[in-house]
Amino acid sequence: MIVLDGKKTSENIQLELTEEVAQIRQKGGKIPHLAAILVGNDGASETYVASKVKACERIGYGSSLIRLEASVSEAELLKQIDTLNANTDIDGFIVQLPLPKHIDEQKVIERISPEKDVDGFHPVSIGRMVLGLPGFLPATPAGIMELLERYKVETAGKHCVVIGRSHIVGSPMSILLARNAYPGNCTVTLCHSKTKHLKELCLQADIIIAALGKAEFLKADMVKEGAVVVDVGITRVASTETKSGWKLLGDVDYTKVAPKCSFITPVPGGVGPMTIASLLINTLKASKK
Ligand code: NAP
Repeated sequence: MIVLDGKKTSENIQLELTEEVAQIRQKGGKIPHLAAILVGNDGASETYVASKVKACERIGYGSSLIRLEASVSEAELLKQIDTLNANTDIDGFIVQLPLPKHIDEQKVIERISPEKDVDGFHPVSIGRMVLGLPGFLPATPAGIMELLERYKVETAGKHCVVIGRSHIVGSPMSILLARNAYPGNCTVTLCHSKTKHLKELCLQADIIIAALGKAEFLKADMVKEGAVVVDVGITRVASTETKSGWKLLGDVDYTKVAPKCSFITPVPGGVGPMTIASLLINTLKASKK
């Protein structure tokens, strides 16, 4: 069994990016700049945004964090987005999700200029991905593809079961793995909460992408010997083992599933750090446009 080490791989990517930024700086070129809008003070969102900003600082990108009160109006948030769209120093930006209930997330996503959509959630980005045109891939699926590629995981002709069909993870993952490229050329089964016989489908899978957000959902008796398992899930659960009082669990019952796998991602240290790496790659791409 080989652990798909997202932490190490993300660090390697960040080293590569650091070198590239140093070269850009030497040549007097445009230093990539990522901005993030954080609405409210949800603990998980704070952590995600902080690690994105920290990664920018580490590799030499510019970064800006715009904090807005949870009570901010939708109109005010849209105005902030317009300001970032118009700011030529900022190459790309993200609005950390989820947003408070009174704000229409889709409206917010669609207000971001597709040229600065480094999270890859805008309908234009999704459309370009579906058509196989160059553009920003959604950060988490792109990170998973990068991880599979760097570990040379075989995908052609494999049966891949994706559990979860969200717009940000499951659906794009199913599209990317089915495309005529490497990684890709899989036969994909996209599963969701209405899927029947999920266990039987998983048992037929050479590759399983678990992205449903239910802690330790995928059990050893749902996985065939030699399967590749990618765990996207992040659920915070109360814990007496940690100082913070909580720990992160994935969607996979890791200790029991791992011995059956050819490759598996851990949580934490698997897909999460790769999402950040993809965001940084997308920001560099945006700055070169
Ligand atoms: P989401 O929007 O809540 O979607 C969950 C999907 O799972 C839905 O399509 C749902 O089906 C499906 N589902 C729920 N219960 C199921 C069941 N029992 N059997 C089969 N399918 C089931 O979640 P998301 O945003 O995609 O995120 C999924 C997980 O990944 C979360 O834990 C999230 O925190 C994590 N995540 C991690 C990263 C990272 O960087 N590592 C990034 C993004 C998300 P329906 O469509 O029928 O409701």
